[in-house]
Amino acid sequence: MSNNWEKGTICIQGGYSPKAGEPRVLPIFQTATYKYDDPDHLASLFNLEAAGHLYSRISNPTVAALEEKFAKLQGGVGALATASGQAAVLYAILNICKVGDHIITASTLYGGTVNLFTVNLKKMGIEVSFVDPEASKEEILALAKENTKAVYGETIGNPGLNILDFDKFAEVAKELKVPFLVDNTVGTPYLCNPFEHGVNVVIHSTTKYADGHAQSVGGIVVDGGNFDWANGNFSEFTEPDPSYHGIKYVETFGNAAYITKLRVTLGRDLGACQSPFNAYLTNLGLETLHLRMERHSQNALELAKWLEKHPKIKWVNYPYLETSPEYDRAKKYLKGGASGLLTFGIDGDIEAAKKFTKALSLVALVVTLGDVRSCLLHPATTTHSQLSEEEQIASGVTPDLMRVSIGIEDINDIIADFEQALSVI
Ligand SMILES: *Cc1c(COP(=O)(O)O)cnc(C)c1O
Repeated sequence: MSNNWEKGTICIQGGYSPKAGEPRVLPIFQTATYKYDDPDHLASLFNLEAAGHLYSRISNPTVAALEEKFAKLQGGVGALATASGQAAVLYAILNICKVGDHIITASTLYGGTVNLFTVNLKKMGIEVSFVDPEASKEEILALAKENTKAVYGETIGNPGLNILDFDKFAEVAKELKVPFLVDNTVGTPYLCNPFEHGVNVVIHSTTKYADGHAQSVGGIVVDGGNFDWANGNFSEFTEPDPSYHGIKYVETFGNAAYITKLRVTLGRDLGACQSPFNAYLTNLGLETLHLRMERHSQNALELAKWLEKHPKIKWVNYPYLETSPEYDRAKKYLKGGASGLLTFGIDGDIEAAKKFTKALSLVALVVTLGDVRSCLLHPATTTHSQLSEEEQIASGVTPDLMRVSIGIEDINDIIADFEQALSVI
């Protein structure tokens, strides 16, 4: 298979190359187990001496095709698909941190990740420091401790829509000799390649734009293969692992040490694997990612420009709007569009906002993003309602903020729906 295909070609043909007489389209290998002829072969699989499928909690041909396509698309050396985006975030961190460790994160995060970090990671003894993404490099470095093991952020904060200053956070991570992890769910592998900006591990909720049709919950962790795990800070990567007869990950797997360790330890022991059926659907969705992201971005920019001129709209935020404070950074880190999220505030109170929401008909009230169907929600009373007011503000949620995940319907119909709904308030 060609290694230098453009993204649009990888979306369609990456990860699966059938031989003569084999199915043209990636099949669903709906199997838990695999058959062998030779006990020595099976033993070598168990000892990680040979590559091959052993049990679908660890790997499966349909899931593997998705992982290979995704790794290529995102420009990494390997990937592990998980049961959900939440599982991907948890795995990515637990592969590096254990009890007593510490990470630094930009505060503008998905609400579920904030809960994971502040509640469950804390229970596991991993401490997380949140920092304003606009803090200076020195201010971020001042949060570092002896046990700091990672720097974390999201490409496009949801729903603040701030674009991460990759260069600054990458410098912090380099200085601390720790990996830089980024959740690129909203950026998508089509619009943004964090590995070109100093990131070492990329995480996605594939539930969103990757699947694109709101059909399958899933996640993926992609290894950039560009971090020196043997720098003295990460002994689990260099010391013998007793659960595999003393295998040493860096020595044995080189620049794929991170993703291999993730699969064979956390994948094996925690078991949040992606099902073959979900991988099949996610792969089908990815086949049109390049076309969808262009249309999502185009529709979002057009709606944002229309809303900006509407007298009942107080403010609009879309990173590709020239009036957005994020515009320069968006142009630098996002190529070809700024994805499908935009936010705005209605000129009116919460009752007006509710009336407007009820009046929408094509644009539905739905708790997801990245769907081909347009949807809208009010984060302060839904996705971010479990956070304190302070935490809400820190993650970019103001009380009047409405978040739209623009679909790929005809933009004229989307605008007409907004127009009629605004006319009732
Ligand atoms: C949805 C989402 C997650 C969590 O993913 P699930 O697939 O819902 O578990 C993580 N990060 C971001 C940015 C998300 O939008």
